[in-house]
Amino acid sequence: MSDKKLAVVTGASSGIGAATAAALAQAGFEVVLGARRLERLQAVAEPIGARFQQLDVTDPDSVEAFVEPIEKLDLLVNNAGGALGVDRIEAASDERWRTMWEVNFLGLARMTRALLPALLASGEGHIVNVGSIAGFETYPGGAGYTGAKHAVRALTKTLRVELVGKPIRVTEICPGLVETEFSMVRFNQDAEKAAAVYKGMTPLISEDVADCITWAATRPPHVNIDEIVVRPRDQATATVVHRQS
Ligand code: NAP
Repeated sequence: MSDKKLAVVTGASSGIGAATAAALAQAGFEVVLGARRLERLQAVAEPIGARFQQLDVTDPDSVEAFVEPIEKLDLLVNNAGGALGVDRIEAASDERWRTMWEVNFLGLARMTRALLPALLASGEGHIVNVGSIAGFETYPGGAGYTGAKHAVRALTKTLRVELVGKPIRVTEICPGLVETEFSMVRFNQDAEKAAAVYKGMTPLISEDVADCITWAATRPPHVNIDEIVVRPRDQATATVVHRQS
């Protein structure tokens, strides 16, 4: 048995999750990575000496199998998530909106519920939820995603009041624009539309967000970082972004 602290990172096959896994390993955590794409997980896990297991947070059986061997857990980073499309409300697709709800909100709630006993058992648990500025801002075409991230914010705040007095910290990380596979997924692999999101401005990179998560996770156990809002300097709100022409 390792005496390192154990961290689980969901959505660790790319972007913020992959960078967070690397940063936590560097900070001395033993890390278990989860996501659906096994080959990608393996490519992230091997260089940092992490363990990995396939995980679909929307599938209760997959979640059960993932958490089954974990008896004690110090840190859960609920990062799996993303956006699908930019449907305005009048033309929204139930299917896309349901998927966003399932991944961003229900999946996060399911992982949290499944790992709460292990987080308690460690005596110093910490849940870090990757929300977004979409958790407290809105923009045209964003309601399917912002609705789910607003719900993540409500869940995070509820967790904090439900768990007060227990040895578990609860943190929300709320990034603005980060250049990852997020926009490729949102625009169904349309590289031109994805690139336009970051055109003429300097977005955050995954490592910037990983830095925030790792900092919050490495404060002393009596210190609860409630939330960190982190944006590129070029972004003032979800819709006010400075771009060089
Ligand atoms: P990304 O590169 O697309 O990463 C998303 C990760 O989530 C991937 O590892 C993906 O892996 C995983 N995932 C998706 N569905 C899953 C499922 N059902 N079960 C398990 N894993 C799943 O995008 P990212 O920007 O790093 O996103 C990470 C988090 O940051 C998300 O919650 C996103 O909403 C949030 N965020 C992103 C930005 C941004 O601008 N990029 C801003 C604010 C917040 P598989 O496909 O292999 O399952």
